[in-house]
Amino acid sequence: MNFTKVEFIKSAASPKDFIYDGLPQAVFAGRSNVGKSSVINSLVRRKNFARVGSQPGKTSQINYFLIDSKAYLTDLPGYGYAKVSKAERDRWGKLMENYFSQNGLITLGVMIVDARHKPTNDDILMANWFKEADCRFIIVANKIDKVKKSAINENAAVIRETLALSDTTPLILYSAVTGTGRGELIAAIENALVI
Ligand code: GDP
Repeated sequence: MNFTKVEFIKSAASPKDFIYDGLPQAVFAGRSNVGKSSVINSLVRRKNFARVGSQPGKTSQINYFLIDSKAYLTDLPGYGYAKVSKAERDRWGKLMENYFSQNGLITLGVMIVDARHKPTNDDILMANWFKEADCRFIIVANKIDKVKKSAINENAAVIRETLALSDTTPLILYSAVTGTGRGELIAAIENALVI
């Protein structure tokens, strides 16, 4: 898998549109503004593939991309965006409850957190959803270019501790800006999807 052929397939706002066709799915989640779109764009080496910047009204959709005709990159709507209305937050919650209550949709959970900060309560909830789903799970600590070298180990330890990660859960130090961690993330995705 080299992420050269990437196609947008569809957006899903309700369970009837979820894709469940047997192909493996790497499911990306993260707080709004954590850089989830930028991470996806850096993976597929496109500038504007996943939309950078929060889009009011678009926060309650799951976007499906097909990678090299072999696997889906499934982009869950970001969470924790302060300017979102209660109605939209409720829609997000319902969609996620529906999504995580289906069995076998997720082959690999890819959760993106900010390498600079302690994970938020929302991050902890999202990590717990992935842990309860019967899937593999990796953490991507994005914006590592903004962390002083001397603080990297400490920040990684805080992320591991706050999300109560098991020792076997990979934590990939990443920068969508410099490309740090890209090879490692691709290898982890390939390994988990067995493609
Ligand atoms: P999303 O809401 O999670 O999809 O986040 P975006 O991809 O829109 O990114 C939010 C902001 O963070 C944008 O201004 C990006 O340019 C910036 N950003 C994303 N990834 C990185 C990174 O690895 N390093 C730095 N320094 N900035 C980043």
